[in-house]
Amino acid sequence: MTKQPLTLYLAAPRGFCAGVDRAIKIVELAIAKWGAPVYVRHEIVHNKYVVDTLRAQGAVFVEELDECPDDRPVIFSAHGVPKSVPRAAQARKMTFVDATCPLVSKVHIEAERHSENGLQMVMIGHTGHPETVGTMGQLPDGEVLLVETVADVAKIEPRDPTRLAFITQTTLSVDDTADIVAALHARFPAIIGPHKEDICYATTNRQAAVKEIAGRIEALLVIGAPNSSNSKRLVEVGRAQGCQYAQLIQRAADIDWRALEGATAIGLTAGASAPEILINEVIEAFEDRYDLTREIVETAIENVEFKVPRVLRTQA
Ligand code: SF4
Repeated sequence: MTKQPLTLYLAAPRGFCAGVDRAIKIVELAIAKWGAPVYVRHEIVHNKYVVDTLRAQGAVFVEELDECPDDRPVIFSAHGVPKSVPRAAQARKMTFVDATCPLVSKVHIEAERHSENGLQMVMIGHTGHPETVGTMGQLPDGEVLLVETVADVAKIEPRDPTRLAFITQTTLSVDDTADIVAALHARFPAIIGPHKEDICYATTNRQAAVKEIAGRIEALLVIGAPNSSNSKRLVEVGRAQGCQYAQLIQRAADIDWRALEGATAIGLTAGASAPEILINEVIEAFEDRYDLTREIVETAIENVEFKVPRVLRTQA
């Protein structure tokens, strides 16, 4: 049977970012240094394939520190943790390594600095996401007001509307965040913010690449986990750019081939926690079914790299 022609537009950059790469290395090096089991508080990054692979090497994933024994090392995930977590680990004299992405740690430091200067913080982020919980947990309860939407801006009741600063989650939609920031400035003209919001380079670049391909495609597939914030934002960006069929998939088996019937141009990208092996798997699945032409659409070149913590460097 002759295969139908199809062009697969591959967004670049896509997939792993420097923070995810570093977090995974930290777990691997910790297992090499201390042996299994090494405990990891929360999924090290939001990807089932990555978590399953590390679990097979000896990582044990738990949600709370209480679930870890005192005498085994524990790693804190790339999303960051509230201050209370390392404090509790120290009190129990545990060995722990913080795999918080340095770009998230930068936001933690910003929040602390503003708070020391007497400003109350507003955080733009998603309720319950571990990064939001971790960032808000850098300061005492009540010091950080969370807003998720433009409508939320009207609802917050700061202590002093003239003494405010804002920070953001790193994996938000660039466009939605700009609207929320504009609403904050309109209601609180004195509010202080970062020069550019705290959305990280990887989130920004992946969204820009989707915008670039959206006009050329009939459907967009985003490889990522259902709990991965930056992956879900890529689906939203695709839809906002007019791509009616934009779908999150975890791997090739999730592709709804019927929904793609008749399409001649499809876009493919991956969230920052999705490994290249899953991207290749999806490309191969397309190759099996179609007379495939690959088009790489590169909108940025990334060369960011983060060092692993000193305690693990001898293993690197
Ligand atoms: Fe760090 Fe951005 Fe990657 Fe999150 S998405 S781990 S903030 S580089």
